Amino acid sequence: VPYFDHNATTPLSPAARAAWLAASDTAWHNPSSPYRQAARAREMLESCRSEIASTLGAATDRLVFNSGATEGANAVFAWTAVHARPATVALVGATEHPCVQAAASAYWPDRIEHLPVSARGEIDLNALAARLRRGGVGMVSLMAANNETGTLHPFQEVAHLCREGGVRFHLDAAQLVGKAEAVGLAAADYVTVSAHKFGGPKGTGLLLVPDGTDFVSLRGGEQERGHRAGTEDLAGVAAMAAALRTSLEQLASGTERAGWRDAFESRLKEAIPGLEIAGAGATRLWNTSLLIMPLGESLRWVRKLDRRGFQVSSGSACSTGKEGPSPTLTAMGYGPEAAKRALRVSAGWSTAREEWEALAEATLEVWRELSEEAGGLTEVVVV
Ligand code: PLP
Repeated sequence: VPYFDHNATTPLSPAARAAWLAASDTAWHNPSSPYRQAARAREMLESCRSEIASTLGAATDRLVFNSGATEGANAVFAWTAVHARPATVALVGATEHPCVQAAASAYWPDRIEHLPVSARGEIDLNALAARLRRGGVGMVSLMAANNETGTLHPFQEVAHLCREGGVRFHLDAAQLVGKAEAVGLAAADYVTVSAHKFGGPKGTGLLLVPDGTDFVSLRGGEQERGHRAGTEDLAGVAAMAAALRTSLEQLASGTERAGWRDAFESRLKEAIPGLEIAGAGATRLWNTSLLIMPLGESLRWVRKLDRRGFQVSSGSACSTGKEGPSPTLTAMGYGPEAAKRALRVSAGWSTAREEWEALAEATLEVWRELSEEAGGLTEVVVV
């Protein structure tokens, strides 16, 4: 079944599965235990740490294994709320993932300012620089790549501005790592990542913390050098390392794959009057397309495509009608009605060009069906 919801999660890669099984079979001992087999588990854990840290360009000691980006974001906001200068605000990107928005609101209540984005979902570096110069900012939190639109943010420049301004920077890299070059990512003070976004297991992830910090996210034992207590999930970590290795081997094909996505978008734009692509024109991940359909609510599209064998997403949880419209689309200036017609398509390394082509045809079929229902727009659009 063509799966186009890789920004939600990805299937476990074969290499990750093999690494998980091998570690579970042969290195299941507690890495903290005092005998040789446990020492081997400890060695494996530390070798995964060095490998992943070097991939991310970070000092090994900065890397803390945890359960993923949600845990990481919560830990970062909880810690900075107590350790940042008093009476400062957290500057949070307007299109951040709910785990960042909710953690910010919980730990920095009444101390949040949003960093606006353009209609293409891009942040304004000049506005950020000006805001930092005005002072009173305790931390900045921004994502590397947006989960709905795929828009990429200039995190290296943001890290530089924050460093110059003496402000801690949290980078949510959940959608970037494993899909694009992570060069410069370690310039952020805190970086949060989830393995299941790039072929690793769910519930496994990592957090980069500043060098030499006494940062604590979970209290208990001395695991993760005191940064996060709890017996380590070595099998998960080994699988994450393998998944990252495998996805890095694919990075070079990103440009070609962006071409497949672009062809998909062009095909639909030709045939569907009024179709908008959110974030088009911005620098985007190669795998994501957020379509704002001219008619039909997201869930109707999702169900109709599902019946045709294609798994896509509504873009955000809002489409059940119970929650408000997507904050990402709202921040980009889309009204609530447009946001209800959003359809997110996100490919993975295993997605073939033919699958993009087949998805375009299936989407056009659904379009014809919905527009006929809406009163016979069909003759305008059939190509
Ligand atoms: N940040 C972004 C940008 C995401 O897309 C996600 C997952 O959807 C998360 C954070 C949270 O990741 P997890 O659910 O693995 O903790």
